[in-house]
Amino acid sequence: MNYFQPNDLNSAFDVLKNNSDLTIAAGCTDLFPVTNNISLDKNILDITNIKSMRGFGLHNKNTKIGAATTWTDIINENLPSCFDMLKACAKEVGSIQIQNLGTIGGNICNASPAADSIPCLLALDAKLELSSIDNQRIIPIDEFILGSRKTKLEQGEILTSIIIPKEKEKGSSSFKKIGARKYLVISISMVACRILISNNIIEDISISIGSCSEVAKRIFSIERQLINKNIKEDIFNQIDFSQLNEISPITDIRSTQVYRLKASQSLIKDVVADIINKLDIE
Ligand SMILES: Cc1cc2nc3c(=O)[nH]c(=O)nc-3n(C[C@H](O)[C@H](O)[C@H](O)COP(=O)(O)OP(=O)(O)OC[C@H]3O[C@@H](n4cnc5c(N)ncnc54)[C@H](O)[C@@H]3O)c2cc1C
Repeated sequence: MNYFQPNDLNSAFDVLKNNSDLTIAAGCTDLFPVTNNISLDKNILDITNIKSMRGFGLHNKNTKIGAATTWTDIINENLPSCFDMLKACAKEVGSIQIQNLGTIGGNICNASPAADSIPCLLALDAKLELSSIDNQRIIPIDEFILGSRKTKLEQGEILTSIIIPKEKEKGSSSFKKIGARKYLVISISMVACRILISNNIIEDISISIGSCSEVAKRIFSIERQLINKNIKEDIFNQIDFSQLNEISPITDIRSTQVYRLKASQSLIKDVVADIINKLDIE
């Protein structure tokens, strides 16, 4: 096994160019559980020493999150309230030990249907910066994840950062997940929501659900029903969940299909109510 731990991106690209069978490793909290060994048995490119890939910055006035930013970094960062959902998600990933090591980029690239960051990033219309030795491309997160554990990452590419469009930084947000217990839990369902409210009217809204389909989904059918609604009216009784066709929950060891569906409906109401309540307090 060869182990490389470069200090900058250019050195990482050189390593990638010269070694075709490398596995990129960040916190290894997804990589380790899939091995049955006490060490990883592949050739490893460890990206955790690349400082430019960690923390928050700007990309053409948009917020840029380094792919090697840990959940703990996200929790500790002072961020506008559109990121409340990402912070809430970070606080519930695994346990404190997992949050200290696990990265947002690893969560995305692992592409689990239960990856908690994906609904939040969908609700923020996040874009992903994929970099290689001679190219850089930026693609929307919903185009990057093709299915369970399948992404558009190409040989020689590293996910270097996540970009949040400036216009999506308006408004407030909330994230809730449901599992069989409080910590170390794989979600049965999770919902992320961002809402921009002006003069009591919902001007912009994005809702996403994870763990209820192969890939987390934006829930346009419910967004359409809530846009332009007055939050002082009983908006919850007006939601028609029979239109919720975007997800396709399954029955598995963690939950039945019916429970997943009902839980998702409740979580949608919870996140919307949470945002409206926060507005009342401010
Ligand atoms: C006990 C436990 C509890 C957990 N709880 C949760 C939970 O509640 N919610 C949740 O969503 N997840 C959970 N996870 C999964 C995991 O912790 C997260 O997905 C974490 O964010 C993965 O990040 P990492 O840096 O450890 O990824 P790694 O394990 O290092 O990598 C994961 C995958 O992404 C690739 N990769 C990593 N970074 C990059 C990059 N920058 N560019 C290209 N490819 C890259 C790797 O090659 C690998 O295929 C849990 C895991 C454990 C062990």
